[in-house]
Amino acid sequence: MYIFHKTKDLQTFLNKYRKLGKSIGYVPTMGALHQGHISLITASKRDNDITVCSIFVNPTQFNNAEDLIKYPKTIDADILKLELAQSNVLFLPEVTEMYPNGLDAVEHYELGNVEKVLEGEFRPRHFQGVAQIVDRFLTIIQPNHLYMGQKDYQQCAVIAQLLDVKNHNTQLHIASIIREADGLAMSSRNSRLSDTDRQRSNIIYQCLVSIQAQNGIKSFEQARKENWELLERKQIIPEYVSLRNAKTLEELEDYDNTQEMVLLIAAYVGSIRLIDNLVI
Ligand code: AMP
Repeated sequence: MYIFHKTKDLQTFLNKYRKLGKSIGYVPTMGALHQGHISLITASKRDNDITVCSIFVNPTQFNNAEDLIKYPKTIDADILKLELAQSNVLFLPEVTEMYPNGLDAVEHYELGNVEKVLEGEFRPRHFQGVAQIVDRFLTIIQPNHLYMGQKDYQQCAVIAQLLDVKNHNTQLHIASIIREADGLAMSSRNSRLSDTDRQRSNIIYQCLVSIQAQNGIKSFEQARKENWELLERKQIIPEYVSLRNAKTLEELEDYDNTQEMVLLIAAYVGSIRLIDNLVI
């Protein structure tokens, strides 16, 4: 696997392959890699000649300073995992490489309603930061295909919007959520859970499944209330438990089987904020 730290070196390398008509797949990550990330590498390898993975903990998408400082960093293990998954390239830039004009010199992106709801309400400017960095990576790498996880459902909707407004010639592929055996969605932040918090954290997924199962039996509001209370009893503090149109992310007051729906939860388990979702 080739490891690049500088934009110019990466571009020189990729241009050689582009000129030969080779396709480039790209997987952006913030590291502390797990099977969820590796599933994206596998998908990219299946579809493309060259797979590029980036590891970059993007400061502009963190609205909580402590979360940024404590974000897990496991670069040696990550490199090993990428080698095993046969990623062709790892791009590992410094902050100054990605933000040469400083962290405040940021562009504003018109991302519409999908940016404002849910995470947008609880993490102000988060998606502007995500759009900022993904736009930069796409401009540098110019991949044919981009691979992201359904785990970050709203992020996928935001990036679809970004590809559109910035006219990137890149196709977005959304991969299924990879879960632990007990249902907890894999996440780099899971490693920060204490043992007891880790044990109860799978209740978030159980709530999603339970709310899905109440479709046709109870109103969504009733199911939401019961599961909200269940989370609280288990000392998990929900920020939202929400039912939305799967495409527009418009809020639904009740189940509506005439449209594709997505259930989304964000909740604190101890001091760790976890998100999960289920398309129904
Ligand atoms: P992150 O490193 O958390 O920014 O994630 C990088 C990419 O991996 C994003 O597109 C995520 O949606 C995706 N991802 C994270 N966790 C999972 C998971 N459990 N299953 C599938 N994809 C995931």
